[in-house]
Amino acid sequence: MGKRQSIAFESNQANAHDTPSASHSSTERSPQSLPNETSAKTPWTIEDSEELYRIKGWGEPYFSINAAGHVTVSPKGDRGGSLDLYELVNALKLRNVGLPLLIRFSDILEDRIERLNACFAKAIARYSYAGSYRGVFPVKCNQQRHLIEDLVRFGKPHQFGLEAGSKPELLIALATLDTPGALLICNGYKDREYIETAMLARRLGHTPIIVLEQFEEVDLVIEASRKLQVEPILGVRAKLSAKGIGRWGTSAGDRAKFGLTIPEILQSVEKLRDAKMLNALQLLHFHVGSQISAISVIKDAIREASQIYVELSKLGANMQYLDVGGGLGVDYDGSKTNFYASKNYSMQNYANDVVAQVRDICHEREVPVPTLVSESGRAIASHQSVLVFDVLGTSDVITDNPPPPEDKTPLVIRNLHETYQSITVENYQEAYHDATQFKEEAVSMFGFGYLSLTDRATAERLYWSCCHKILSIARQQEYVPDDLEDLEKIMASIYYVNLSVFQSAPDSWAIDQLFPIMPIHRLDEEPTHRATLADLTCDSDGKIHQFIDLRDVKSVLELHPLRQQESSSPATHEPYYLAMFLNGAYQEIMGNLHNLFGDTNAVHIKLSPKGYQIEHVVKGDTMTEVLGYVQYDSEDLIENIRRRSEQALQEKQITLQESQLLLQNYERSLSRYTYLS
Ligand SMILES: *Cc1c(COP(=O)(O)O)cnc(C)c1O
Repeated sequence: MGKRQSIAFESNQANAHDTPSASHSSTERSPQSLPNETSAKTPWTIEDSEELYRIKGWGEPYFSINAAGHVTVSPKGDRGGSLDLYELVNALKLRNVGLPLLIRFSDILEDRIERLNACFAKAIARYSYAGSYRGVFPVKCNQQRHLIEDLVRFGKPHQFGLEAGSKPELLIALATLDTPGALLICNGYKDREYIETAMLARRLGHTPIIVLEQFEEVDLVIEASRKLQVEPILGVRAKLSAKGIGRWGTSAGDRAKFGLTIPEILQSVEKLRDAKMLNALQLLHFHVGSQISAISVIKDAIREASQIYVELSKLGANMQYLDVGGGLGVDYDGSKTNFYASKNYSMQNYANDVVAQVRDICHEREVPVPTLVSESGRAIASHQSVLVFDVLGTSDVITDNPPPPEDKTPLVIRNLHETYQSITVENYQEAYHDATQFKEEAVSMFGFGYLSLTDRATAERLYWSCCHKILSIARQQEYVPDDLEDLEKIMASIYYVNLSVFQSAPDSWAIDQLFPIMPIHRLDEEPTHRATLADLTCDSDGKIHQFIDLRDVKSVLELHPLRQQESSSPATHEPYYLAMFLNGAYQEIMGNLHNLFGDTNAVHIKLSPKGYQIEHVVKGDTMTEVLGYVQYDSEDLIENIRRRSEQALQEKQITLQESQLLLQNYERSLSRYTYLS
């Protein structure tokens, strides 16, 4: 709110204003200051929602808002066809697929692969590059079987391959990849078994490239090749001195965990030469980290790597491939900047820079250009999945107007009253200090027994009412004093959501990654509440309190008040659905079972001529399953409860009916979803 912290926007500050959704009114109105009391006269429109949630910035071309005020998904991007996300969720609920629910759009996955390949094809044509592009998908980014199978299928026309970073991932890749000529890049720490398996895969028609990441692997590879009489294709991962920036910046640099230093690379070349295997060395690989926000970092790395590539070729290696690793970013906040949740370049810029730099350096040094390989994971997998979850309830700060003071009202409460009455644009900061001081005084008087519980309650209500009034004034101001910055957070509603952050958005908890979150319906209605999200776990970290913003982040998300269901008893509220977008990369597998909330339900949706088609339903974990992960056997558990209730029955502590209900609930729960229904 108010004064924005200065953040690391290099030269791209101006870009922030160039984004389509920010162009028309971000100057008059900062994204956080909602029209409230003063501007509420113009009715809220879906365009207002578009701008508020920045959906064009991060969602195009897949996500938008329709006239009904619902989020729509266009899984084929610009190629037509769309579906209403809110209606899809309702239809799935009728099929007993409850929330929280991960929806995967296989058409989006296909579109991402098409896009990446099209960008490289365009760049190759534009720069008359004499080589080709052959991408691979890093399996670690999302190992789910249906997704990997789809990916291999969609990638066939482009000979798109897979990258394995561990032995289990290699096993997946070997069994799933069946595209002739597609590469199978073998990264990660390797032992003899890994290397032998990868080498033998050549006999199955695979094109495995074993990338030397540790110096010791050179000997292992030479040995295995002799033993198996297989001529492998080898690569070497270089530790570049060009460093990444941001969270994964340490993936590169001289002390990075992976890769060979230049002296080690030279030693490896000599070892291979001595073993008459230098011909096997065909690929140079580097990886500067994930989510590279600044194109300059990528350019630097490619320049350095191209020089190494050329040198290796001159040293006699049979160089064929340059593998530029991952790092292609996703614009989570839609700001098109080098902020960590964004990126200041497009996929096309990326492809252009890779192609142009490599070409220039190879031409200069008169070395044939390599086949280009990238291991883009995040950029391919993020968009295809959407996590939809419901709001269970809310908690708001009470800010009503308590009755006016009477003669016997304690002085401190009168003072609060007076403060409340006198708040104006001129004195709101001072009024905030006064109100805070009076409230502290009231609390302290209560501690000494000078104030009744009722009086203390009145004092607190008055204090919150003051804060409310002060906040509405502060929101109208261009500049907000530092000491009022936290007011927005303090006054925020808490929305309790049916979700475990630890299971479904671990990076939001672990590394403060931002994902776009917004309601998927009621978008033609003004969201009058500002809230933070609290998840189901009993962990105080189980919350989301940072949201995307045009600049920096915001501490509250604008949401709609829950609507009471008509004529329902007991009173319940109408379902209110939120969705978290762009979370198809890394989140699923890094999620954990904190508080034993298991995997969520997942469905795979494909557009069809008649609408859409549910390709797979993957039910989330049941309680029996998650309890099994921690070695509890559900039969034993039931037996234990049965024994205990039998004993209680005999001791007449429980009635037969009660004990039956208890056992029934216990048994039924075990086969149920771990989330609330
Ligand atoms: C993680 C990783 C990738 C994928 O990076 P993205 O940023 O998701 O594209 C690629 N290559 C290697 C070696 C990795 O470790």
